[in-house]
Amino acid sequence: TKWVYSFGDGKAEGGRAMRDLLGGKGANLAEMASLGLPVPPGFTISTDVCTYFYQNDRTYPADLEGAVEAALAQVEQTVGARFGDPAKPLLVSVRSGARVSMPGMMDTVLNLGLNDETAAGLAQQSGDERFAWDSYRRFIQMYADVVMGVDHYLFEEAIEIHKEGKNADLDTDLDADDWKQLVEAFKKIVADNHDRPFPQDPKDQLWGAIGAVFGSWQIDRARTYRRLHNIPEEWGTAVNVQAMVFGNMGETSATGVAFTRNPSTGEREVYGEFLVNAQGEDVVAGIRTPQPLSREAAEAAGPGSDKPSMEEVMPGVYGQLLDVFEKLETHYRDMQDIEFTVQEGKLWMLQTRAGKRTAKAALRIAVNMAHEGLITETEAVTRVEPSQLDQLLHPTLDPAAPRDVLTKGLPASPGAASGQVVFTADEAEEKAKQGENVILVRVETSPEDIHGMAAARGILTSRGGMTSHAAVVARGMGRCCVSGAGSLHIDIKTRTITCNGRTLKAGDLVTLDGTTGEVMVGEVPTLKPELSGDFSTLMQWADRSRKLKVRANTDTPGDTQTAREFGAEGIGLCRTEHMFFEADRIIAVRQMILARDADGRRAALEKLRPMQRGDFVELFRIMAGLPVTIRLLDPPLHEFLPHEEQEFADVAEAMGVEPESLRWRAKELEEFNPMLGHRGCRLAVTYPEIYEMQTRAIIEAALEVAQESGQTVVPEIMIPLVFGDKELASIRKRVEAVAQEVIAASGHKLDYLIGTMIELPRACLQAGSIADHADFFSFGTNDLTQTTLGISRDDASRFLPAYVEQGLLAYDPFVSMDRAGVGELVKIAAERGRATKPDIKLGICGEHGGDPQSVAFCHRQGLDYVSCSAYRVPIARLAAAQAAL
Ligand code: ADP
Ligand code: MG
Ligand code: MG
Repeated sequence: TKWVYSFGDGKAEGGRAMRDLLGGKGANLAEMASLGLPVPPGFTISTDVCTYFYQNDRTYPADLEGAVEAALAQVEQTVGARFGDPAKPLLVSVRSGARVSMPGMMDTVLNLGLNDETAAGLAQQSGDERFAWDSYRRFIQMYADVVMGVDHYLFEEAIEIHKEGKNADLDTDLDADDWKQLVEAFKKIVADNHDRPFPQDPKDQLWGAIGAVFGSWQIDRARTYRRLHNIPEEWGTAVNVQAMVFGNMGETSATGVAFTRNPSTGEREVYGEFLVNAQGEDVVAGIRTPQPLSREAAEAAGPGSDKPSMEEVMPGVYGQLLDVFEKLETHYRDMQDIEFTVQEGKLWMLQTRAGKRTAKAALRIAVNMAHEGLITETEAVTRVEPSQLDQLLHPTLDPAAPRDVLTKGLPASPGAASGQVVFTADEAEEKAKQGENVILVRVETSPEDIHGMAAARGILTSRGGMTSHAAVVARGMGRCCVSGAGSLHIDIKTRTITCNGRTLKAGDLVTLDGTTGEVMVGEVPTLKPELSGDFSTLMQWADRSRKLKVRANTDTPGDTQTAREFGAEGIGLCRTEHMFFEADRIIAVRQMILARDADGRRAALEKLRPMQRGDFVELFRIMAGLPVTIRLLDPPLHEFLPHEEQEFADVAEAMGVEPESLRWRAKELEEFNPMLGHRGCRLAVTYPEIYEMQTRAIIEAALEVAQESGQTVVPEIMIPLVFGDKELASIRKRVEAVAQEVIAASGHKLDYLIGTMIELPRACLQAGSIADHADFFSFGTNDLTQTTLGISRDDASRFLPAYVEQGLLAYDPFVSMDRAGVGELVKIAAERGRATKPDIKLGICGEHGGDPQSVAFCHRQGLDYVSCSAYRVPIARLAAAQAAL
């Protein structure tokens, strides 16, 4: 087996197609080398070695050592330096890299190969003592932290103490001698905190670092990230060993990060940051605030900005960088996120990958690239992650609303959010679990904070740029984020923020505007999103490809209107019970339930009928000729029972009876497990008057709207929770009788459908005979999930997360359809239903209708439509298009 793949000097053994084997970073380093871009030479140890490592008790294949030696010798030759040679030492970085980028998950070790002798040699050879000792101390610090597990805080403390002793403010105030002394101090810290001293032999250092990279695949935060992003354990990471280039060799050297287009807005402009005389992660770590790349960005930062751009201070290198941008975009045909270093005026490329972007940017880039001819319109449709659209479909701050602006930071990730201030990730997670909206406030974030960032509505940091950890992760998660709000003074001990003479404490409300960078005190009202422009262009392209129709689950005029604006092609599920709970109706509903006989029920239902009819009239009007599926009453009557004294008194008064007699009847109606109880079509079996009233209301409303608009109105009457054909046949007969009677009395014509929800396993199996009596099936996958897995949604949170964590379930079946069980039943029901009635209309109306994976499943089964909540309609449209491509 080939375990090691070399790259550099204009050629490479690997390439971008080998991402699985070489990891994303290694595959792209190889690709860039082949493209002729300036890449320091190196080699990649494949992910196969990682797999071998974990399958063989953390040992390596026997022939790995020889392969590494050979690849290293090749690097030595290309660079003209030797590993461990004091006269001309080769230094390398050791970098992890999985198939998909896992930001900040695994730490890179830089300057490996330095020891007491090679450091002295480097000083002599470079003629720069300070550079050599600074590099060495960085190496000890990183190596001790990442490989040996010595807390990096100990080293930072040593630097602080040293600075205080010298009355120095900045790291840059320290000279060669200072760093030399700190190197000694650092080695002592290692000796004091570890059972072995800091290794002096470069080969030991190298194998230590390689082992640490493979080992880091199984550390907690890497596991958490994988779980959050559904990345399989088996993939493993590769290890990249690469000759060092130095951004810390003085004023003509620098290190930086860039995006080939703006990752927040998607505009085609130079976007990025760099730091002169710095190394590696200095830019992202937020230790010094970096400088912008382009003059334009520097000017935008304000007239008083003392941060000159790269365009100004290194015009030559800036030009080279723009050429690289161009080359990478034409080659990869996508926006790239790159890392580079400038060593004494020469540009070196250290990484490229498809850049993470906000939903807004994803749309803009996809649409622009199609217009530029770089990709096709169909490809553009595949470039936007459907679930990402969520970010755009949610409200932004009302520009007209008053804002009490506390301060302004960097607009790191767009959107707006209000919530209570919390200071730790754990606190964010806890409060979010209790249903609170929280804003996570940190000096800067690190991978340890990821769970809190996921739980928070927004993230606010006082330090770090547009490419800081907080910014990158927030954009990926779709959280709004304001970073680098430097005037905030965050005191974790007292749990307060002071800023411009004001003090906020934990629990106070703040609002973030991730699009402007503003931080406001209190809550600011929000506005509906803008749905024109790139969004509607891409949606049009998507609609050309999709086969599935997309409907919405709505029952109020407001939501229905929103659903239409989002492109819903009808209502797939109107839950009539939501109308029953309204304050002015609940008394009549209770009167109906508590009535002793059919006459009592009829009297109460007559009060409800005009109200229901009014509701349906509005929905039919908004949906203007599109299909509207109305589900007849479904929830257990139990749910409508009065509880409070006052509630009983109100109903009693309306019915002209004693409250006491009602209480007795209510006792009778109580159920132990109402979700499996007296609900759905079972209500119609015992109290047929209810569905009769609802049918009357629906048909009357449809006739009314058809009359006034001249449009065809096609109501679809849906009967829930059937488990067999006899049940449906009997209820259908009654519903049909009422419908016919109302239509006949009106003297007009009206088409309507009668169908059923398929949400019980028995109904799936009996779908063949049920189809005899149904014009359509709508899969109610929420109940079908509960009844198939035997899990009640309301209690599942106690154990479902453990199932997912332990890998007993790959995902939460209430979020994404359980293909193996529920999906199988849907398949059977569709087949059997169609065998009876080939043109039976099939749809799904559970929460799953808005989940991209489940939508793809529905496409494969050839269903006619999916139906989901209004805000997820665009997600379903895009997912349906992608499923069809
Ligand atoms: P991450 O995956 O966290 O981005 P990287 O492996 O990309 O980690 O390393 C982080 C940074 O270290 C790079 O952006 C670069 O600045 C620096 N670095 C890595 N390898 C080298 C190298 N060979 N020479 C100079 N700097 C390097
Ligand atoms: Mg990187
Ligand atoms: Mg149901």
